[in-house]
Amino acid sequence: MALLARGVVNCAGLGAQHLARALTGLPAHSVPPLHYAKGNYYALAGRAPFSRLIYPVPEAAGLGVHLTLDLGGQARFGPDVEWIDGIDYTVDPRRADAFYAEVRRYWPELSDGALQPAYAGIRPKLHAPGAAARDFAIAGPRDHGIPGLVNFFGIESPGLTASLALAAHAAELLAQT
Ligand SMILES: Cc1cc2nc3c(=O)[nH]c(=O)nc-3n(C[C@H](O)[C@H](O)[C@H](O)COP(=O)(O)OP(=O)(O)OC[C@H]3O[C@@H](n4cnc5c(N)ncnc54)[C@H](O)[C@@H]3O)c2cc1C
Repeated sequence: MALLARGVVNCAGLGAQHLARALTGLPAHSVPPLHYAKGNYYALAGRAPFSRLIYPVPEAAGLGVHLTLDLGGQARFGPDVEWIDGIDYTVDPRRADAFYAEVRRYWPELSDGALQPAYAGIRPKLHAPGAAARDFAIAGPRDHGIPGLVNFFGIESPGLTASLALAAHAAELLAQT
């Protein structure tokens, strides 16, 4: 199949680098490396005694194991940071011990056996484990020389919060071509 488009926005998340490398004429040096940092979540069995979200002080590659309440009042703790080599959304039950320790820093009353593996997401990091954090990498025609193309790389947190601003920026970059 061939598609003809005046504008292309590559916002493929974990697939953005793979997609960019498939584009004819895009300089290889304009595609940054990709590293996977999984964020695991554990759910609290039973009702939480909290009515608001709780955020500890952020850690090196994430916001820290914070408390989120869904619309039904169910509490979930996460995400942690687990650097991985390939895409795998399995939540390893052996990570529970670290979760108990993290959560008990702000909720010492958390009882043994109260946490259950829930789900995981994977952050598309542009820096390797231990390296200095990198910001989103957004490249338009003036950066890579391809008219009508905008690449979004490393759109991890707060990509959702920033999504409208990112979309507006993509429109600006496309208008420059
Ligand atoms: C654990 C975790 C916690 C987070 N917490 C927050 C938070 O608290 N606040 C916040 O603002 N953000 C948070 N984020 C970040 C937020 O989830 C992302 O920034 C946002 O989802 C990125 O959206 P996107 O549309 O760029 O990418 P995605 O949502 O990843 O969408 C990319 C899409 O492209 C598709 N795709 C991939 N490859 C191809 C291809 N070759 N061809 C066609 N389609 C393709 C994928 O299937 C997918 O549908 C968190 C992320 C994680 C992992």
